[in-house]
Amino acid sequence: MKSLRGAHPGETATIVGMGPSILRLRPRDFPPGPVVAVNHAILTVRKHKLPNPIFTMQKDGCTPHGGRNQPRINMPIRHCVCPSVRTIKPLEPEVLLLSAAESSHCFKAYPLRHVFDVQADFGIPWNTMSVPVAARIAHWMGCTALYMIGHDAYTRGVFGRVSGYGVVPGSGRGYVRASVQAKDYAESVGMAIEFR
Ligand SMILES: [Zn+2]
Repeated sequence: MKSLRGAHPGETATIVGMGPSILRLRPRDFPPGPVVAVNHAILTVRKHKLPNPIFTMQKDGCTPHGGRNQPRINMPIRHCVCPSVRTIKPLEPEVLLLSAAESSHCFKAYPLRHVFDVQADFGIPWNTMSVPVAARIAHWMGCTALYMIGHDAYTRGVFGRVSGYGVVPGSGRGYVRASVQAKDYAESVGMAIEFR
């Protein structure tokens, strides 16, 4: 993670959520600067073959935890069952972003891999949702603005999410909260933030 610190000073980071609106994106919808795709959003982003630095954030890892129909595990997840439908295999030159608590063992052989420690690096709980963590990573990299696309629960009241096998139901309330947390964080550190 240290090598990413300050890597994109003054740039705009685009954080791509999994809302169905991402299926309508065109390459010109991405401004210059790093693009952070959250979970399965990378499948859509990589199709555009953008010139931007691309980050694939697979913070949640490959072991189910915490969802409504899953056993709730209130401790960090330390094992790996990759390959799994929950995590998207990275492709170079994508930079893989992982979490010490949830995904530290995922894709261990991949060279462009950064494991961050959500609690130690950012001072927030390890199970904070991916989008507010992505906002902090962008700030860590020196970005001064966030461009938020595909956060449809917050911007459109649309709760579906794009998976590798179509649009499936998403966690509406959770996704709205994640967007609000990203917005609150950006404002607290003086980053511009725009939702599209
Ligand atoms: Zn794994």
